[in-house]
Amino acid sequence: MTGLFFSFDGIDGVGKSTQMELFCEWLRDRGHDVVQCRDPGGTPLGETLRELILHRQDTPISPMAEMLLYMASRAQLVNDVIQPSLQAGKTIVSDRFLVSNVAYQGHAGGVRVTDVWAVGAVATEDIRPDLTLMLDMPVEQASSRLNRDLDRIEARGAEFLNRVRDGFLHEADRSPDRIAVIDAARDIDTIQTEIQGLASRVIEAKGLAEG
Ligand code: ADP
Repeated sequence: MTGLFFSFDGIDGVGKSTQMELFCEWLRDRGHDVVQCRDPGGTPLGETLRELILHRQDTPISPMAEMLLYMASRAQLVNDVIQPSLQAGKTIVSDRFLVSNVAYQGHAGGVRVTDVWAVGAVATEDIRPDLTLMLDMPVEQASSRLNRDLDRIEARGAEFLNRVRDGFLHEADRSPDRIAVIDAARDIDTIQTEIQGLASRVIEAKGLAEG
């Protein structure tokens, strides 16, 4: 039996952590053995790389190098956490996954988008989320929800984040069956209800396929 894999994506401030917590609680209530992780991070190597990528303002990192650091973190996460959990029939919920690299370092950062997908396929051994819940709202509105210091990526400004947002929407357009765009400018419960409805369909489809 193989498990299910969900990821939450979108720019910072759209409510990923908030929705993810509620979603995991809902899954657990329905009997899922839930494994929560974050990308980058989720392993000792991944957490070290996360610190380097997001918080070391003194270390210049090119978009290509940045993309490869994310990939190294993700490869370790897939190897140590995602792959074994899926094999054990668990339900993985990840805060971000590969499409974030495609949007940030690809669409917004200038690394060729096809290259990011190609390196990503190698790094993840083609393991991808059954469904990505992509929370979307205007950049200014999302930024105004964040009342903390911006990390290295967030600090790049509205123009960069608008390119990221457009990148996410472009990718969702290309893969509507795998990436659901969710209007994040609504109240928390309304958004969560939509997420649960979308996830239910994926859970039922998987159940039917396994017969
Ligand atoms: P992300 O993980 O995407 O950065 P968070 O879940 O941390 O976003 O949410 C950012 C901030 O916005 C938090 O203070 C959170 O309480 C608040 N928030 C989350 N969802 C909503 C919502 N639907 N409406 C208003 N505020 C929200």
